Amino acid sequence: MPKHSEERYYDPDWKRPEIIYGESLVGEIAKPGERLAVATMEIPWNLVKGKLPVKPEAVVFVQDMELRTLESLEKAVPPVDVVAGIGGGSSHDLAKYIALKKGARLVQVPTILSSDASVTSAIGIREGWRVRYIGHVEIDRILVDFSLIKQAPKELVRYGASDILSSHTAKYDWKIASSRHKERFDQSYYEKARDMLAKLAENRFEVRDVTDEGIKTIVELYLGYAEIAEKLRSDRAQEGSEHFFAYNVEYLTRRQYVHGKLLAVGILAMSYIQENEFDKILQLMRDMGLEARPSIVDLGKEDFSKAMMTLRTFAERGGYYYSVINEIELDRSISEELYKILSSTF
Ligand SMILES: [Zn+2]
Repeated sequence: MPKHSEERYYDPDWKRPEIIYGESLVGEIAKPGERLAVATMEIPWNLVKGKLPVKPEAVVFVQDMELRTLESLEKAVPPVDVVAGIGGGSSHDLAKYIALKKGARLVQVPTILSSDASVTSAIGIREGWRVRYIGHVEIDRILVDFSLIKQAPKELVRYGASDILSSHTAKYDWKIASSRHKERFDQSYYEKARDMLAKLAENRFEVRDVTDEGIKTIVELYLGYAEIAEKLRSDRAQEGSEHFFAYNVEYLTRRQYVHGKLLAVGILAMSYIQENEFDKILQLMRDMGLEARPSIVDLGKEDFSKAMMTLRTFAERGGYYYSVINEIELDRSISEELYKILSSTF
């Protein structure tokens, strides 16, 4: 039986899931005789549906990530042995939810890398458009099928680097929080996170070109951060004000985004607010082929400024970590100035 839990968020005994890198791996999803459910979206489903090893008992398509939607989707799925999440972050979170409720083995098959959801154990859901994490699932296997991932638009793989790059601003927030005695600090995990960022920078052109090595770099670094989160029992090393910005934009605009794209805007914005190596991060993004203009996620000046100005209240109400936004007044003039700077950087 897989070690899923509805109550626990982190597992200090966490073990790295089995990761298989290669080509044409879809056949590894289930063994003959196993009952399979698939969580997916239309585009990835069309890529794999003819190649599955067993006929699924249910194919569930992502609608939105609101908890009540997930509940009703899950109820329609018959008992199964394996749940496979095939697609991007939403498919993986839906698969986690179904696996948790069914007590089934979980296999994740990323076809894009827009967020780290294929690797992490917590289930990211929305309640009234606010992000919440529920439960903890044990991932049995992650199939990293290079040829499958390379069929996606390159940008939907490159922006996967955002969930690693977010450590740049998150680590800074962690330091602020610990210096104000709001949070425990752990030097060795801090340094580990720093070294992983260096690894991303080292392989930045592989990420830009979406090579096997670039894909592997992103997946391995996701795993590195997942391990830190499990052992530290906190996502601090990778989640800070840049994520809160992204969550607030979702909340305010009631729209679904490619996580890594929206997050890129948050990372660059917060590195400016933190006065934390803005130019270096900008260059690294350019080298990886990422942009962080608010317009890449159709965010206009008014929505961007509103997201900035309401950020502290949003983070406090949501019970998110202490960060730079608790210390700096983000008024209209700073917000509009920042919008102008980000819009002219690429
Ligand atoms: Zn994220």
